[in-house]
Amino acid sequence: MIKVIKDPGQMQAFADTQRRAGKRIAVVPTMGALHEGHLSLIRIARGQADLVIVTIFVNPTQFGPGEDFSRYPRGLDSDSELCAGAGADVIFAPEISAMYPDGYRTFVNVEGITDVLEGAVRPGHFRGVTTVVTKLLAITKPDVAVFGQKDAQQLVVIKRLVRDLNVDVRIVVGPIVREEDGLAMSSRNVYLAPAQRAEAAILFRALQTGHSMIRNGERNSSTVRQALTSMISMQSSGTVDYVSLVDGETLKEKESLADGDEVLLSLAVRFGGTRLIDNLPLRV
Ligand code: AMP
Repeated sequence: MIKVIKDPGQMQAFADTQRRAGKRIAVVPTMGALHEGHLSLIRIARGQADLVIVTIFVNPTQFGPGEDFSRYPRGLDSDSELCAGAGADVIFAPEISAMYPDGYRTFVNVEGITDVLEGAVRPGHFRGVTTVVTKLLAITKPDVAVFGQKDAQQLVVIKRLVRDLNVDVRIVVGPIVREEDGLAMSSRNVYLAPAQRAEAAILFRALQTGHSMIRNGERNSSTVRQALTSMISMQSSGTVDYVSLVDGETLKEKESLADGDEVLLSLAVRFGGTRLIDNLPLRV
């Protein structure tokens, strides 16, 4: 049985002891309901450290009103088995009241790059993410923290956070793990009805279409955005929240593309009450 720690103080003490014994620590922050995407990050962490900590915490402060916090899938028993199988050593799974006790008053805010894309649609989301990630790093004291490319904006924001706050941790990125038809794995995919699940493969096909348009010389980003938006609307029942082409670091929308630009093509699409995101980082 894998070791599960629930108390932040105990986690911190354990991490301290391990560090003092010379162990390199890697942490993989998750919200549980683990799938192959998470497991790939745990395996990356395993290759970089002596002690691999997986955090499992459905963080209420990153969910907005009306979002899926209460129905978000949870299952610590099966998650524990998956973690152990992928090579994790410890699970840190705190209660909400331990992370945000009465009187809690402190939030971390990264400015500018958090009010576009996901942040524009989900106000307050990144304030919750950056706050909980700061706490998780302070509690687990890792040398390395592993995040997935799946949440591309989150990655840019967290890299900015650790640079700006001089947090002594190396951020490692794992590529997006996909289902056979290209749908990016996500804990939220279980919400999809069978017909929606089949249609959801359109997200990756749209990203690939965008990629080939750019590879074939398209340099007007609104042409790409419009083509993908109408492709998704015409070929599925999905509602497009956004299709976006931004600078990979500043996350500013690109009007035109120039050879050598590092850009992020990303999209968010709703199928009924389920919101899916996907992205492709590109070099023009
Ligand atoms: P979550 O549990 O959804 O908060 O995700 C925890 C971590 O797993 C984040 O760093 C995500 O980017 C990453 N992740 C989620 N899905 C995937 C995927 N399909 N491939 C790679 N990483 C993923």
